[in-house]
Amino acid sequence: MIPFLPLKDITSAYRDEISTAISRVVNSGWYLQGAENTSFERNYAEYIGSRHCISCGNGLDALTLILRAYKELGIMCDGDEIIVPANTYIASILAITENHLIPVLVEPKLETLEIDDSQIEKHITPRTRAIMIVHLYGRCAYTNNIGNLCRKYNLKLIEDNAQAHGCRFNTKRTGSLGDAAGHSFYPGKNLGALGDAGAVTTDNEELATCVRALANYGSSQKYVFDYCGRNSRLDEIQAAVLDVKLRHLDADNRKRQQVADYYSENISNPLIKLPIRLPDENNVYHLFPIFCTRRDELQQYLTNNGVQTLIHYPIPPHKQNCYRNWSNTALPITEKIHAEELSLPISPVLNIEDAKQIVNLINTFE
Ligand SMILES: *Cc1c(COP(=O)(O)O)cnc(C)c1O
Repeated sequence: MIPFLPLKDITSAYRDEISTAISRVVNSGWYLQGAENTSFERNYAEYIGSRHCISCGNGLDALTLILRAYKELGIMCDGDEIIVPANTYIASILAITENHLIPVLVEPKLETLEIDDSQIEKHITPRTRAIMIVHLYGRCAYTNNIGNLCRKYNLKLIEDNAQAHGCRFNTKRTGSLGDAAGHSFYPGKNLGALGDAGAVTTDNEELATCVRALANYGSSQKYVFDYCGRNSRLDEIQAAVLDVKLRHLDADNRKRQQVADYYSENISNPLIKLPIRLPDENNVYHLFPIFCTRRDELQQYLTNNGVQTLIHYPIPPHKQNCYRNWSNTALPITEKIHAEELSLPISPVLNIEDAKQIVNLINTFE
């Protein structure tokens, strides 16, 4: 069986360094808000190219904390609208609704899978406060058009960078393109911890200070509470692990790109469609999505032949029970993506022999 994502092998590639880092924390007797977090935050901010990095419990919290901070700072209030792609992972939208803000769903482009920037302007109203872009599948979602719209209408640009650590737009990394970005280090992400982890990056000091307080009960000084915050802190052990894996992130992303290049150049079955191939710098291939109108049959065929695949995602947010209000909303492009998408195995430890076998199977599917 070729597994979709062999996390155990991904971790073992850096086993010694990771073990040393974990032992250091265990033996230090200091498990939260210590030197490991300080170090990871500094290194990750530098890597992304942001002035500030605030670590937190997970990616959903990172996005939620950004919006919450904008509310605390008086920049957003209940009922304000946030533009977001309709075909994202549910967490982007949960962060909005949890803050009593209103997600305005915009269709993606079928060829890029990212938000269709030509459809954004008609959704902007006097209540719009931000555009949240999602670099889905590891592909850069930013366009100059989006940046211009944010300036023209005075909107915040928030990036959901959960799937795109290391991706670039020109010389800048995703996560440094807008006003603030949420990052997830869920184990399966390109930069993955050994458990839940997340971070916010921003150049704005006021926002950074507010996010840091909100993630720590609303406190910036022990036993003094400025906001009704939450507890969303990153364990020292996870920070230490992330600091190790950050050093290898670019090399790991290059390995993903090599697998992706092989897939892109060799998948030739007319029943299969691929999204537009971006230059490697604009895609860190968190996933390798392919499209087939007979997706479920294709998945079964690959399973029968020893290849594990996943669907990202089987049900779009507007068809989920938790968002019943949207059940009659028609988003045909989003629905088509969800009906036809299949993710092939891709990771820093997938070798070209396995990729060859997968391509041969796909090319003989009929
Ligand atoms: C993983 C993910 C999140 C949430 O991150 P968690 O750390 O799992 O909370 C948010 N947005 C996107 C696009 C994701 O893929």
